[in-house]
Amino acid sequence: MRRPMVAGNWKMHGTRASVAELTQGLGEMPIPSGIEVAVFPPALFISQVIDGLEGKGIIVGAQNSAVQPEQGALTGEVAPSQLAEVGCKLVLVGHSERRQIIGESDEVLNRKFAAAQKSGLTPVLCVGETLEEREAGKTLEVVGRQLSSVIDAFGIAAFANAVIAYEPVWAIGTGLTASPQQAQDVHAAIRKQLAVKDAEVANKVQLLYGGSVKAANAAELFGMPDIDGGLIGGASLNADEFGAICRAAGN
Ligand code: PEP
Repeated sequence: MRRPMVAGNWKMHGTRASVAELTQGLGEMPIPSGIEVAVFPPALFISQVIDGLEGKGIIVGAQNSAVQPEQGALTGEVAPSQLAEVGCKLVLVGHSERRQIIGESDEVLNRKFAAAQKSGLTPVLCVGETLEEREAGKTLEVVGRQLSSVIDAFGIAAFANAVIAYEPVWAIGTGLTASPQQAQDVHAAIRKQLAVKDAEVANKVQLLYGGSVKAANAAELFGMPDIDGGLIGGASLNADEFGAICRAAGN
């Protein structure tokens, strides 16, 4: 049985004060048993959030980490070993905002994926197609290629310690959500692609859906057989809304 996971990506939002308020709200939120809850604050606030959530059963992750595991001369970057040392457990790799706005290539992302695992972090590999690619009927080709990039580099065993988030780019921050069936179809294809290499790994890996998930649509999405929870952007900045999404995953 896969455990559902609900993860909040705070992106580049927050001040010390708003982060303290959100952290307190999350700490007071009842977490349904049997689910994993994670948050990804901006790097600057990770330690503050780890301290604030101590003992609350919420995992803290990073939104990005460096291409090399160890600390060193790499101005502006944060090493995954440093993140692990302060208590991070997860790291996002390949969020579409980093692929598209920062221009991170599959090759760079592969290095980040490997460095994260080497440092004891679990990478959350984000994959997804643009609207243009969906309209051209290329969704499965694009997502399959993003996934293959990691499988070809490190083998299927790399997914024994990874989470995958399917996030259609056209649904991120737009208010447009993939229908439960659209999301399920892509999740099933991802699992099938992994199963060709290793059925056990495919069956165990948590596949999250991301893209304008909110309390109102979470239950229907999470009810699909291959959707094991969600990666939540905007709605994760409100503790009550995020709590309601967590409860949807727990039902
Ligand atoms: C995201 O950024 O990972 C995301 C899913 O954002 P939103 O929920 O705001 O669409």
